[in-house]
Formats: sequence, structure tokens, C-alpha cells
Amino acid sequence: MKNDSCIFCKIANGEIPSKTLYEDEKFRVILDLGPATKGHALILPKDHFANLYELPEDEAKDVIVLAKKMAAKMTEKLGCDGFNLVQNNGEVAGQTVFHFHMHLIPRYKEDGQKIGWNPGSPSQEELEEIKNQILS
Ligand code: AMP
Ligand code: ZN
Repeated sequence: MKNDSCIFCKIANGEIPSKTLYEDEKFRVILDLGPATKGHALILPKDHFANLYELPEDEAKDVIVLAKKMAAKMTEKLGCDGFNLVQNNGEVAGQTVFHFHMHLIPRYKEDGQKIGWNPGSPSQEELEEIKNQILS
């Protein structure tokens, strides 16, 4: 299940070279070309799924297990001080390449990067309403 016009399909399947950290029959892990920090990498499924919504549950399980293994190895080898897993879905959420990928971002003291949001301050009533909307 590949998409001929998708650059991550070509990278994941080895048609375009990449700095590969790991590969198996389902996934390739590559260094990001525009890294947030030293070692920033991406987990790419070899099959084309545009985003988390399209990713089958089995692959989703495999992705988080692989992310955990990669985080342990990269932390040991790079000596980073923390680690972010980031996964964007949709343009509004910052997705720029529409082939599912998980960012592996090693964090270092004073690396100057920021992954965050401005916290809101909803009332208890607003939280209740949102909860009910999601659970309805
Ligand atoms: P996102 O904004 O979550 O869709 O992330 C896309 C990521 O892919 C960015 O961090 C880019 O730097 C990275 N990227 C785009 N093209 C390539 C490429 N050819 N090789 C490696 N990383 C890439
Ligand atoms: Zn693709």
C-alpha cells in the first residue's frame, strides 16, 4: 500500500536514500533533515497511511513499542537529558508531510527548543460540557 506521489513512501521503502537508524519489514527510522535537536528522528511505516486516523491499530501498537526502544537507545548513545514524542495530524496541527510519522526528539538542557502551548483556564462547567460532548 504505497502512494506514488509520497516522498515518505519512497524514503521508507529505500527508493530515496536516508540516514537510517533502524529498519524492519514494517518500519524505517530516519534522521530528520530539519532537526529540532541533535538526533531528531522520524518513525515511518513502509505502508502509506496519511495520518493517525488511517493508521491501523496493530501498526499503532508497533509504533509506540518501537518509539520506546528507539528512545532508550538514543538516550544512551546521545546522552540527552529528556525526550519528546511528537505526532502531528492535519495541517492545523502542524503536519506538513501527509504520511504518518512519529517524531523522536532528544532533548538537552538549554537546547533552546520549545514544544508546548498556552494553557487555557476553563471553568468546571466548561470542562463538564466538553466531557459530555466527547462522551455523547
Ligand atoms: P510534520 O510537520 O510533523 O509533518 O513533520 C515533517 C518532518 O519531516 C519535518 O520535521 C521535516 O524536517 C521532515 N522532513 C521533510 N522532508 C524530509 C526528508 N526528505 N527527509 C527527512 N526528513 C524530512
Ligand atoms: Zn506515503
